[in-house]
Amino acid sequence: MYRELKHVIDTTPMCDTHEHLWSEETWIRDGPDILQDLFDNYIKADLVVAGAAPEAVERALDGRDPDLAGRFRGIEKAWQMVRHTGYGEAVSALARLVYGIEEITMEALEAARHRTLELRRPGERLRLLKEVARLDHVQIDNFCWPCHPDPSGFDFFLYDIHWSNFVWGEIDPQALEQETGLRVSDLASLESALEALVAKYGPVAIALKTNHAYGRTLAWEARPPVDVSRALAVILAHPENATEADYLTVGDWCLAKGAELAIQYKLPIKIHTGYYAGYGQMPVEWIRPGHLTALFRAYPQCRFVLMHMGYPYTGELLAVAKHYPNVWVDLCWAWSIDPRSTVEFVRRFLHTAPSNKLLGFGGDTFWPTSVVAYAHQARARLYQALAEEIREGELTEKQAIAVATRWLRENQYELFDLHGTREAIQKAARPDAVKKTSRRRAFLPDLA
Ligand SMILES: [Zn+2]
Repeated sequence: MYRELKHVIDTTPMCDTHEHLWSEETWIRDGPDILQDLFDNYIKADLVVAGAAPEAVERALDGRDPDLAGRFRGIEKAWQMVRHTGYGEAVSALARLVYGIEEITMEALEAARHRTLELRRPGERLRLLKEVARLDHVQIDNFCWPCHPDPSGFDFFLYDIHWSNFVWGEIDPQALEQETGLRVSDLASLESALEALVAKYGPVAIALKTNHAYGRTLAWEARPPVDVSRALAVILAHPENATEADYLTVGDWCLAKGAELAIQYKLPIKIHTGYYAGYGQMPVEWIRPGHLTALFRAYPQCRFVLMHMGYPYTGELLAVAKHYPNVWVDLCWAWSIDPRSTVEFVRRFLHTAPSNKLLGFGGDTFWPTSVVAYAHQARARLYQALAEEIREGELTEKQAIAVATRWLRENQYELFDLHGTREAIQKAARPDAVKKTSRRRAFLPDLA
């Protein structure tokens, strides 16, 4: 045991660069019961792949049904088959850390079921994330454009501008007009609307985010405006005639426009690469991070964050991260998709690519209790990776500590404008309070 390393990894306030967290209000009002809390996360896909009937999983996750034992019975056999996967490891950690359950049985569930109601109280969500998961802040993609200051923690809950719909070529003129006051009827007006949208939310957003790999290939190419105009005209006027090629053409242009705006507003752009959530639907050829290299060359000033370790294209991602100065790698969700490959990946990364290009954690989940589990898993596995490095003589403990701190916290502070975003959020949320602070700050040089 390398005590000092373990202590640093366990206690460093970690920057969480990717979650989909439901709001404080939803957590309190519509939050999970114990079975939903344990199993309504990535594990449900593993359960079905192991052979559980989708209806049995659905029933297990139906919080309106008070019969915990009946619900658990339908997934119990599949649970035994998946408890050692990365998702299963996180479920066990959640059971242990949040509910004090060592082995998930009907009796244990029954005995701990009251616990969720105690946790679903005002302020508990923030406490779980800040004090139990020990996070510095979370960056949330809640699948929409607006990034309103979050009163449950202005400095703590930061938001991405969601960009996927544009990259799918799905242009919604009504929604855009509502947000920007601009009517979209052609390429020029679409460009103005996208500019207005990022002008509105860019200053309070932490990043742009797109997970378009769930609906199209990541393969990108620069599109001549004349082609984009033609395809956009079809999509807007006669969507029934629009082809896959039309959507890809408009989508590629919108991703490029997103990159331009990201440069202008100093926002990194996060792109889902690799593995799919769910089951039975992943076209494995769409999701390669290498599909994006033309984009990296076209926008050398844009900072691209490639998410989820590009799994299973980890070697390809390593090559891309080593080669492109404008690419960062984010391990969000990777620790639970395939923990052992992630341990191996970070060790390979260390000896291949610059260590300031890796972001160590994101739980990629909806409930704060899941984040507690995924954060625990990430810390434990990162310790495992760095302990192996020390044991094999590749690093000293002191060097391992420096690397861990970089990956859990320092790189995120270097890449994202946390100070500027937090200040803009404070200003947007309570303009008077900020005025007071800055007036005080104006006096400081005199005092010094
Ligand atoms: Zn996600």
